[in-house]
Amino acid sequence: MTDTTAATWLRAFATAVLDAEDRLTALDQAAGDGDFGANIAGAVRFTLADLDALAAGAAEDEVISAAASAFLDRVGGTSGPLFGLLFQEFAAATRQAGGFTTAALAAGASAGLAAIQRVGEAEVGDKTLVDALSPAADALSALPDDTPLAEAFAAAARAADEGARSTADVRARRGRASYVGDHAIGVVDPGAVTVGLLFAAGT
Ligand code: ADP
Ligand code: MG
Ligand code: MG
Repeated sequence: MTDTTAATWLRAFATAVLDAEDRLTALDQAAGDGDFGANIAGAVRFTLADLDALAAGAAEDEVISAAASAFLDRVGGTSGPLFGLLFQEFAAATRQAGGFTTAALAAGASAGLAAIQRVGEAEVGDKTLVDALSPAADALSALPDDTPLAEAFAAAARAADEGARSTADVRARRGRASYVGDHAIGVVDPGAVTVGLLFAAGT
């Protein structure tokens, strides 16, 4: 049992995802192939098991790396590897900063967004998790480094939630939701909703 700040955050995220699994499934049923809830719930279950297996005294970046591995190596679908890239960048930024700080969260969000866009080529407005992560990264970058971490998470969560809500208005241009065209209008993107859960879990 680890109980660093990052571990507490990741456990809260896991709980939020497991609580929201049915809703996330329903969103991906409406706009995709219906497996998002199961994919992301599976990923957080692996993450919880890996956190339990970490040695006591593991550093913050090792804790976040455990989540990155769980998402990158052990989960199907598009979302697992994309969230894995984000956790990988949070871990790298945390290592670089020498701790899980507001500056590390901001740097990790920006680098994670860049990595996700390199791989997935989605822009803001394509109805993907980028619509939540991009405004969250912007909000974090605008904060002074001495902003308390919980406040930084809250600012990122507000921006991500607003971005996630905006995905209801658009037709998807990336991912499976693009195959159903106008049928997905009015449905928020489950990946974007989950980015909101990720930041809210740190508050
Ligand atoms: P799949 O579409 O392979 O079934 P999931 O259901 O696990 O994958 O994940 C779907 C989520 O992945 C979407 O809600 C969206 O947020 C995200 N997504 C899909 N394609 C992309 C992309 N190219 N860039 C960023 N995010 C994407
Ligand atoms: Mg899916
Ligand atoms: Mg799928």
